[in-house]
Amino acid sequence: MGSTNHPDMQLPTPATGHITLVGAGPGDPDLLTIKALKALQAATLLLVDDLVSDDIVALASPGARVVWVGKRGGCKSTPQAFIDKLMVTAAREGEKVVRLKGGDPFLFGRGGEEVEHLQAAGVAVTVVNGITAGLAAVTSLHTPLTHREHAHGVVFVTGHAKPGDSGTDWRTLAETAHRAKLTLVIYMGVGGAALIQAELLHGLPADTPALIVQNATLPQQRHATTTLAELSQTIDREGLGSPAVMVIGKVVGNANALAQWAVSGKTGTF
Ligand code: SAH
Repeated sequence: MGSTNHPDMQLPTPATGHITLVGAGPGDPDLLTIKALKALQAATLLLVDDLVSDDIVALASPGARVVWVGKRGGCKSTPQAFIDKLMVTAAREGEKVVRLKGGDPFLFGRGGEEVEHLQAAGVAVTVVNGITAGLAAVTSLHTPLTHREHAHGVVFVTGHAKPGDSGTDWRTLAETAHRAKLTLVIYMGVGGAALIQAELLHGLPADTPALIVQNATLPQQRHATTTLAELSQTIDREGLGSPAVMVIGKVVGNANALAQWAVSGKTGTF
């Protein structure tokens, strides 16, 4: 049986070019996936976000061109429309393009928006997962995000909404986390910690354990443990800042004790 298309119907254009969206993980190059490493080594052009460390970019082929599209590129941050255009043009020219993003590309990385744009432009896309910062941060302190005694699940949430968006409903989230025993992992939240803390206190007890980890898995990693009631005070006192994740929940109550036994992969025996 033959098929006919309505004259107005848009047929998808055949894909021209290919892009690999790669999660670079939290910072430590040893935490890259093998797939990410292979993509990096094969790339002729790398478009790199801010939170990707130099040590990871150094794993690319020496002949590859590297374009920093975050704040390092000179301006405050490269407009998304410019990055989208650059990706499409380079892919169409036959470059092996790797779009390198911190952590996982599909967790607060605008990976979804970029894939939609590329697909609409007829560019084929492969996505390679990376270890997300919130997971790596607590793991580096030998602390779990779930625990049969303390947490039945985990919520990854942003503390920084898109301009014009009303943002996260922290009160509802706090009540749910309390009732359902969920750990909260807050990205991009240290700048707004005072407000987030005040809102969360409507649904979570003041003595709920809290952990802040800055520059997780990098040599300059720092962390502090506290309670929800003293979250922003602790951040100020310890001089913690971005990039950092805040983790709220009973699982982090033991983080300091557990962290004493943490041996970094660098000094480990494998
Ligand atoms: N896609 C990334 C998140 C990008 S949003 C991921 O999956 O990890 C940027 C935020 O991620 C930062 O503001 C911070 O909250 C967090 N982040 C990224 N790298 C980090 C690191 N090494 N240590 C702590 N937080 C980090």
